[in-house]
Amino acid sequence: MSTLRQDPTTKEWVILAPHRAARIHRLPWLPARPDPVDHDPTCPFCPGNESQTPPEIGGVRGEDAWRVRVVPNLVPAFDGEGTTERRGGPAFREMGGVGAHEVVVESPRHDARLEELDPEHVTRVIDTWRTRYRDLKRRAWARAVVIFKNFGPGAGTSILHPHSQVVATPVFPPESLLRFAVATRYYDDTGHCVYDDLIAEERVAGDRVVSERGRLVALAPYASGTPYETWIAPTFHQSSFGQLEDDDLEDLAQLLRDVLGGLRDAAGDPDFNLVVASAPAHEESKPFFLWHLKVLPRMSTPAGFELGSGMSINTVPPEEAAAALREAITTRAGR
Ligand SMILES: [Zn+2]
Repeated sequence: MSTLRQDPTTKEWVILAPHRAARIHRLPWLPARPDPVDHDPTCPFCPGNESQTPPEIGGVRGEDAWRVRVVPNLVPAFDGEGTTERRGGPAFREMGGVGAHEVVVESPRHDARLEELDPEHVTRVIDTWRTRYRDLKRRAWARAVVIFKNFGPGAGTSILHPHSQVVATPVFPPESLLRFAVATRYYDDTGHCVYDDLIAEERVAGDRVVSERGRLVALAPYASGTPYETWIAPTFHQSSFGQLEDDDLEDLAQLLRDVLGGLRDAAGDPDFNLVVASAPAHEESKPFFLWHLKVLPRMSTPAGFELGSGMSINTVPPEEAAAALREAITTRAGR
């Protein structure tokens, strides 16, 4: 029999249906990820092809070459400064696509993967995300800054070269609005941050905790919507990714490497999306939101029921996912 679990941070119910697990597979109609090469002369993100992207706006430089490179997206979803004035009436409202859409090229190596890069380099990538977050958050029009990474064709990536993206939006994204509304209500009811309470209870329960490093924890949330969904979050109150402190950078890099490496070994190297959720840009001082980095493997595709109901069906209980990830991480560490 299936079980329904409610996510206290969204009030959404997810369906745990382990008996449907046989349905998990790599989506057969998707192209396989090509065999990687360390340099691809046709790739716009490989060294030597820098002129194929818009001019660099940030990153990390070594003595003789770039290590991490930030460029505007060539085909941005949002672009540039301007007014956020709405036009039209309630039925036909619109506004200009003011905002920013940037690409973080994570390594000069075409075939690099975050879990294989040395921790120092992953720290550079995360530090670059934080720099871009802080810079974009200051823009007058910015309502949210979303950091994400699409890995593999099942996660929507079109370029193999390792990269992530930072988008600053001129409106509150619906996901962010919902989470913020639920967190506000919870704070009003209890005087606590719903995420702080959730993380504290998960750490007491323990069976869904994947790993802890310093002041950060990785866990498979109680109401995981997808197989092997994993969150990395602070164990103390911190509402926005821009507030991440230098002292926690290295621990976050290590945890992220562990989680991605564990996922690769335990779950058959799935395509995945990575998303960093934060409080809305001007609400960082409020005590009721907690930033968290989510890794969402793409091991099935939402079908009619999911689209029609907004509910997800998860075939791997998070307790089992966490146990498998813990074991895989321990095995990798021993190699
Ligand atoms: Zn490349």
